[in-house]
Amino acid sequence: MLFRLPNGFIDGLYHFSMCEVGELKGKHQNYLANRELVEGNIGHLPKILSDLIIRVETDTGVEWKGSKEELLEKLVVGDLEAILIKIREASFGVKYYFDANCEECGKTHKGLRINLDTLEYKTMTPEQLMQTKVVQLPKSGLEVELRPQYLKDLFEVINITKNKQDSLITSSVVTSVRRIGDKTKLTSEDFDDLPASDLIFLMTEVGNTTLEEHIDTLVTSTCKGCGKDFEYKIPTILPSFFYPSEA
Ligand SMILES: [Zn+2]
Repeated sequence: MLFRLPNGFIDGLYHFSMCEVGELKGKHQNYLANRELVEGNIGHLPKILSDLIIRVETDTGVEWKGSKEELLEKLVVGDLEAILIKIREASFGVKYYFDANCEECGKTHKGLRINLDTLEYKTMTPEQLMQTKVVQLPKSGLEVELRPQYLKDLFEVINITKNKQDSLITSSVVTSVRRIGDKTKLTSEDFDDLPASDLIFLMTEVGNTTLEEHIDTLVTSTCKGCGKDFEYKIPTILPSFFYPSEA
């Protein structure tokens, strides 16, 4: 299945924006069932992605020639999620069934359905991808360059939420910052000494800046109990996303 990535990446003169994926095989079901690999984690992702991404190319068919390891470092999370959705489509079709609770009245809705190929998404142009996103912190005056998130950041965020509750606030920003002043290679300690007002400003900027595009996986349904709308986030990065739909 060949499709357009929400972002893609620039390498040399080319914008690699198209991706072809294959379908899940028996051995992938084994990765997904491997409790040690997936429990509370996303260890299945590198294996499934590197096995099932067949190739990436430009929209005129120039194929990217690097290794799979390199490719998984280049693709932003929005693209990885799109790839996971297309792998699911190629494997089980477009129908995706889910259960969700209405936040308003607590009613459980079973067997709700969305067609994965109808989820909306925007794409980034090469010009937008090459644009540097820079903000200046109001208190310290430091210049901060923002960046999109990558596969390693997903692992980092999960690692942080499990082990370092006390640095949770700074850590969620760490994975969206490429540079503070002259300093790159940042850890959460680099954020610990920032004035609180700068940190809050930075979190707001990260939230308001389009650092990458993605397929919109937030599904809105209307509750049959109370009539209000409620939302459900399709868990694309979890193993359960690849269990075949019932109904
Ligand atoms: Zn309700």
